[in-house]
Order: sequence, then C-alpha cells, then structure tokens
Amino acid sequence: MSKTKFVDFKAVKAAITMEQLLQHYGILDQFKRGTDSLNGPCPIHKGSNPTQFRVSTTKNLWNCFSDCEHGGNTLDFITKMEKCSIHAAALKAIEWFNLDPEAMAASDDNAEAADPKTSAPAAKPAARPAVSPKFTPESNVPNAPLKFRLDKLERSHPYLTEQRGLTLETIVDFGIGFCSKGMMADRIAIPIHNVKGEVVAYAGRFPVEEPPEGTPKYKLPAGFRKSQELYNLDRAIKEPADQPWVIVEGFFDAMKLHQHGCRKVVALMGSTLSAAQEELIRQHTTSQSHVIVMLDENEAGQAGREDIACRLSKFCFVRVHQFSRPDMEPEYLTVAEVRQLMEGSL
Ligand SMILES: [Zn+2]
Repeated sequence: MSKTKFVDFKAVKAAITMEQLLQHYGILDQFKRGTDSLNGPCPIHKGSNPTQFRVSTTKNLWNCFSDCEHGGNTLDFITKMEKCSIHAAALKAIEWFNLDPEAMAASDDNAEAADPKTSAPAAKPAARPAVSPKFTPESNVPNAPLKFRLDKLERSHPYLTEQRGLTLETIVDFGIGFCSKGMMADRIAIPIHNVKGEVVAYAGRFPVEEPPEGTPKYKLPAGFRKSQELYNLDRAIKEPADQPWVIVEGFFDAMKLHQHGCRKVVALMGSTLSAAQEELIRQHTTSQSHVIVMLDENEAGQAGREDIACRLSKFCFVRVHQFSRPDMEPEYLTVAEVRQLMEGSL
C-alpha cells in the first residue's frame, strides 16, 4: 500500500489484537493472563512493575496506570511504541501482520477523518472490534517469498563449526552463515524455505550459546508466520517414501540430523505443532507413513510431543522418542545413534 493511500483505521484496528502486538514485540511471555486481561510491565515507558500495564483482551484495549497514565487501542499502542503517526502505525500493522491492503483501504477519502478518536483513553467503554469480513485471519495467510537474498555470509564462523559442530558441507547445504550487515547483522542467518523451496524468511541466531540478557537467541522478521512453515520440508519431501519422518524442534537439530544422514527431518521452530504444520504433514504422508516425534527432553518438549503424537496418529504411524537424559536434544546425537534411530533401535 502506498503511503498516500487512505487507510481505514477501523478495519486495521479490528484486524489485529493487543495479544498479537505483544507477541510481535516479543514481550507476550512477560505478561500474566487473567480471565479477560493480560498484565505486565509497561513496554511504552519501559517500566518494571508487572502490574502497571493492563490489556483487556475482550475490549482489545490497553492502559498504563503508571508513568504513561494513558491507554488506547491497538493502533494507539503502535504509535506510542514506534513514536509515529496513526497513519504510519496503520501502515506498519498492515505490513507486520500481512493484512490485505485492499481490505484495509478506505472506501472514500473521508475515512481517516471519520475516526477522530485516535487516542481514546482505555477507561472509556468500547465495543469489541468486529472482524472485517474481508479480513483473512493472520494465521492462515501464506508467507510471501522474499525478493532478496542475504549474501556474503561467513560460512566458517566458529559458532557453526566449533560450537554447533557443523561441517562446511552442511553449512553450505543449508545456506547459513554469519551476517555482518542489514536486518540480521551480527547474527547467523538461516534461510527458511516454504514447501516449494522458496525463501520466505531469514531467522537470525545470536552466535553465543547464552546471549546477554535482553538479547533474544533468535530474531525473526516482523510479520513472518513461522506457524505456516516446517523447516526443511521442501527437501524432506524428496526423500524416499519408505523412510520415516523425523520431527524436531530447532533449526540446528534438523541440520545436525541431516549431517548425520537422517535427511527426512523437519523442524517445528518451537515445541508445538500449529494447525498449518499439521496440515503440511498430512499432505505429504499416507496412512502407511511413519513419523518419529523427537523433541527436546524438557518440560516444553514433553508437553509438545504428547499433543503432536495424539494429533498425527489420526492419519499416520507415530513413534515418540524419549531420551533417558534430561535436557537431551536431537542435536547432540552421534552419527551412530542417528543410524540406530533410523533402524528403529534407538
Ligand atoms: Zn507506561
């Protein structure tokens, strides 16, 4: 959408939720969930008190009871976070959440002026925004292929070779490397392909096992919906049909198993299976297919694998792999163990 085009603020506001915005800013996990609320530290004035910023999830409004003494709707929140105009905030929301630009365009030139309450206090009662019928749910929109490639990636970065134990062949094969500039600067750039093999995003891994506080291990581009993709699926589908699928959590689990000869591996990029990911697996398996679910041996992995096994077993054979050692991850398996895994004896 061009910057001169008029935006229907109401449509944009209705299309996004405060919860999505907190997730977008990577702070949702700092919030405690109540019946109709999310409570946490205020991200606008960067407060630390975990009760001073409150989101009403049914009204889709926020309020800071501390320094800001202010509240508002989703677009107001973006204007405060980005220190930008309401128009710029709406354009950002359209880009971040891949909203349909046509559905978000004002039908007449007065639409922007027609919504003067751009920073209504949250205390005022407001109806729950109606979802525009033209709006496709954020989670169902496919990720668009990127029109650029990150080049000049440093392949032999010690984080990859020494810390992760990857061979140069694997590094080149997966197209990863240390990025020195741009949006993934100072991170390991990991291209993510859709099922057709098109690059839809780069993930950026901070090249230290435990990054300093406040620095996320992984960075994903705003608006990218990882729930729509399975890492390495484009290549796993080319492996022989009689081989079992292996489902792991992380990029490096997939790379390492691949390096050890287990190539029909896909990564969830997390410990949960989204509906779209389930559908991708369903599309590429038959009732005779075997799937090994091998998540990390920790609380999240244990919870995730039960749910995944339950859902996948409705349409294929599922084996859940449990490690005997706590905190064990597929990435740490040796070549011999991976071979045993594929022979069904691990
Ligand atoms: Zn505040």
